Amino acid sequence: MREVRRTIAFMLRVAWREKPALFASYLILFVGNAATTMKNVLIPKLLLDELLLVTKGAALSEHLQLLVLYAALDVGMGALVRVTNSVAERTKGELDEWFKEYCDVMLAEHAMQMDYEHTEDPDALDQLNKAREGMSWYSGGVVGILDCVYRIVLNAAVLFGVTMLIFTRCPLLLPVQLIALLLISWLVARNNGIEARNFLKLSKINRIFSYVLFQLATFQYGKDIRLYDSSRMMGDKAKEQSDQMTDTWQGQALTQMRYNWGIDVVNVLRDGISYLYIGLLAVRRVISVGDFTMCTLSATQLYNSLHNIIFNAMDIKKRCGYAYQFILFLNYPAAMQTGERSLVDTGADGHVITFRDVSFRYPRSEKYVLRHLNLTIRQGEHLSIVGLNGAGKTTFIKLLCRLYEVTEGEICIDGVNIMEYAEEEYRKLFAVVFQDFKLFAFSLRENVAPGLETVDEKRLEQVLTQTGLYEDAQKLADGLDTTIYKSFDEKGVELSGGQQQKTAISRALYRDAPIVILDEPTAALDPIAEYEIYRQFHTLVGGKTAIYISHRLSSCRFCDHIAVFAEDTVKEYGTHDELVVREGGIYAEMFHAQAQYYVDQGAMN
Ligand code: ADP
Repeated sequence: MREVRRTIAFMLRVAWREKPALFASYLILFVGNAATTMKNVLIPKLLLDELLLVTKGAALSEHLQLLVLYAALDVGMGALVRVTNSVAERTKGELDEWFKEYCDVMLAEHAMQMDYEHTEDPDALDQLNKAREGMSWYSGGVVGILDCVYRIVLNAAVLFGVTMLIFTRCPLLLPVQLIALLLISWLVARNNGIEARNFLKLSKINRIFSYVLFQLATFQYGKDIRLYDSSRMMGDKAKEQSDQMTDTWQGQALTQMRYNWGIDVVNVLRDGISYLYIGLLAVRRVISVGDFTMCTLSATQLYNSLHNIIFNAMDIKKRCGYAYQFILFLNYPAAMQTGERSLVDTGADGHVITFRDVSFRYPRSEKYVLRHLNLTIRQGEHLSIVGLNGAGKTTFIKLLCRLYEVTEGEICIDGVNIMEYAEEEYRKLFAVVFQDFKLFAFSLRENVAPGLETVDEKRLEQVLTQTGLYEDAQKLADGLDTTIYKSFDEKGVELSGGQQQKTAISRALYRDAPIVILDEPTAALDPIAEYEIYRQFHTLVGGKTAIYISHRLSSCRFCDHIAVFAEDTVKEYGTHDELVVREGGIYAEMFHAQAQYYVDQGAMN
C-alpha cells in the first residue's frame, strides 16, 4: 500500500507542478462521461414509460412534448460530450508524450549524476533497468497511472448514482452483482500476481538480451567481434535469453488461461440470475416496463462500475508496483557521503594531497587492493606512478577523484578529509584521462570542450596543436565540426586509436583544472609519440599538480617523484636518478629491462 500511496502522490505532484492542464482534461472527461452514463440508464426508461402510456390509449398530444424533450436530450448531450471529450483526450495524449520524455530525461540525468560506484554495481544497473521499463510500457507512466485514478473516481460517482436507482426498484440485484464481482476480482488478482512475479524475473533476462543485441551491436565493438569471431557466441547468448523469455511467457499464458475460464463461468451465472429476478418483478407488475429496462441497464452499469473500480484499483496497484521502481531508482541510496565544505584558495602554496594509511577493497570484494598506503603530493609536483598490471594504480586515482570511498584511513586535501568537500567543487579540481576513456558520438569540438557554451577557439587550437591533433583535424571534411563515429552522421569519422587518445588528452588539457591526471591513456601511441605528448604535457601543465601513470618508464624521467606500486602499497618512492641506481630495486630492474628493449629496437634513437 505504501508503494501505491507514494507512487500516486509522486505522479500527482509531478503533474501538478509541470502540467496542471492535465487536471482540466480529467475534469472535462469526468463531467461528460458521468452525465452520459446516467443519461443512458435513465432516458430509455423515461421514453418507454411515456410510449407505453400512449400505446395504452393516452392522448399523444399530452405526451409529445416530453417525448421530444427526452429524445433531444439524448441526442444533444451525446453530440456535445463527443466534442468536449475529443478535445480533452487530444490534450491528454499530447501531455502523455510530454511526460514520457520528461521521465526519460529525469532517469538519464539521475543515472549520470549518481555515485560512480553504482555504475559498476549489478544491483544498481538492474534497478536502472527496472526503473526504465517500469516507468514506460509496464506502468504507462504519469498519465497511465493518473488515468487509473480518474477511472476510479468516475466509476465511484456512477456507482453511487445507479445504486440509488437499483435500491428503489430491485434491491436484491445488489448482492448478486457484488458476489460475482468478488469472485472475479479474486481471479484477476491471481492473474496480476503472476505478471508481477514475471516482471522481476524478466528484468535481468531483458538486460542481458539488450546488452548482447543493442550495446554490442555498435561500431565500437565491431572490430573485436569480427576479429575474435564472436558473433556466433553473441547469437547463442541472445537465443539462450530469448528461449528463457519465451518459456516464462508460455508458463504465464497457460496459468492465466485457467483463471480466464473461471471469470467467464461467473459472468454467465451472474447474468442468468439477474435477468430471472428482474423478469419476475416485471411479470408480477411490481415494476413497470420502463423500470425493467432501467434495472437491467443499471445492473449492467453497477457491475461495470464495480468491476472498473476493482479492476482499476488492482491495475493501479500493479502499475504503481512497476513505476515505484522508478522512484526507488531516483532515491537509490548514495554510496558515499558528501560534505558542504568549500575549498579554500591557498594561493601560491596550492593544494596538498595526503594519503594517510589508506586501505581499500572494492564493494562486494574481500581482497584488499591497497593497504596502509601513505603518500603526499604537493602543489605543482609532477608524480609518476608505475607498477605491474593490477598493482592498484587506477584504483589509487579513482580514490583520489572520489569515485570510491576508502575502506580505512583517509585522503586529505589541505589537511581536510576529501569527503567533507562539496562534490561539485571537488570534481573541478581534476582533469583526468583514464585508460578506458570514452568519446561521444558528437563533433570533435564538443568532445574536447564538452558542455561549454563558449569555446575559446585560440586555446582550443593551441591545445590541439600541442597534442598533435590540429593538423589531422584540418584534414577532416568539416574540420573540428566533424562528427566522431558514424552512429548518427554518415559523414562521421572513425578516428585511429592514437587520434582518439590525443582527443581525450586534449579534453583534459583544455579543462583548466589545478590537478591533471593521465592514467595511461597513451597505450595506443608509439613510444616516441607518447614521450612527446608527456613532454609537452609536462611543459603545458607547468605549475599544476600532475600525476602520470605509464608503463613506459622513459616517459616518467622528467617527473619530480616516482612512486612504485607493488604488494598493495607504495613500495619505492624517489626521483628517477635515486631509484634507477637502487640496488635490487623494482624500478631499477624495470627501467633497465625496458632500456634494453629500446636499445635493441633502436626506437628511442
Ligand atoms: P592497475 O591500474 O595497477 O592495473 P587497478 O587499480 O585497475 O590496477 O586494479 C587493481 C585490482 O583491483 C585488480 O586486481 C583488479 O582486478 C581489481 N579491480 C579493479 N576494478 C575493480 C572493481 N570495480 N571491482 C572489483 N575489483 C576491481
